[in-house]
Amino acid sequence: MKAWVVRSQGKPIRERIVLENYPDPLPLENDLLLKVNVCALCRTDLHIVEGDIPAHKLPIIPGHQIVGRVVRVGEKVRNFHIGDRVGVPWLNSVDENCSFCLKGQENLCPNARFTGYDVDGGFAEYTLAKENFAYLLPEGLDDIQIAPLLCGGVIGYRSFRFTGVSCGEKLGLYGFGSSAHIILQLALKKGIRVFVRSRGQEHLELAKKLGATWAGDYSAPLPEPLQAAIIFAPAGEIVPLALQDVDKGGKVILAGIHMSPIPSFPYYLIYEERLLQSVANSTRADVREFLKEASACNLSPEVTTFAFEELPLAMEELKSGQINGTAVILIAS
Ligand SMILES: [Zn+2]
Ligand SMILES: [Zn+2]
Repeated sequence: MKAWVVRSQGKPIRERIVLENYPDPLPLENDLLLKVNVCALCRTDLHIVEGDIPAHKLPIIPGHQIVGRVVRVGEKVRNFHIGDRVGVPWLNSVDENCSFCLKGQENLCPNARFTGYDVDGGFAEYTLAKENFAYLLPEGLDDIQIAPLLCGGVIGYRSFRFTGVSCGEKLGLYGFGSSAHIILQLALKKGIRVFVRSRGQEHLELAKKLGATWAGDYSAPLPEPLQAAIIFAPAGEIVPLALQDVDKGGKVILAGIHMSPIPSFPYYLIYEERLLQSVANSTRADVREFLKEASACNLSPEVTTFAFEELPLAMEELKSGQINGTAVILIAS
């Protein structure tokens, strides 16, 4: 099959991720073999190519927001059939028996494996998924509308739940890419007012078009204090600013898998019971719950599509902040 393969991490992107003829994957007893329709691009894919997060496996095919059709099933698979359309997210498998898994925190499992990081992912014609970590998708929703929900959406959703904001309250979104623009839509449906900070003028315009109460850059004074903020941008210098923007008892949630160092800040910024918390990965329950919410709330991600051959271009544009919404790579079409 044709696949985008990373053999060594680093820069530039085009030299590190290369289109190759790669051996077809073979399903084990609990696996689904999928023909990939589309795979949405996540900032984590970029971190894996450039080495911001160290590789777990090389060579690796990145991509962990996969929509595909089942073309073969392992002999123990019971709940999926050939022809089913399924979604595959970041979490590939867990051990099911560590102290974290037993407490419902499988996202923290020390033996968790991740799609496109520990096992080959979706920037390829075919990929494998574990039956218990794949999701049957409702017919009717477009592949390209679902793919961005599978990581950006789910991680955003987990972050959003941690904020605890409810109807009538104010939420800040810092960095306005794939995840943030989906959570903006969800928050608005719940009657929450949303304030967006971003460096990109086009991102700010999209935020306003989608219904943000306020959108400005990181130096603009915020008109009112917030109950909570989610930081999506991988920039540690935003953390003290966000703590300054939230009211007493406010929460600042860090949604990214990687962030540049956080500068030291005076204690008063976090005093008065402000809370700083990161989000790591997601659970199967997060995915199920969010896919239900997304369809009930009619979330519709803004999408820029790229041909399979254009993956490095999509990564470059994501890196330079040129993508509005989510980049989705068309693979079968
Ligand atoms: Zn575990
Ligand atoms: Zn991701």
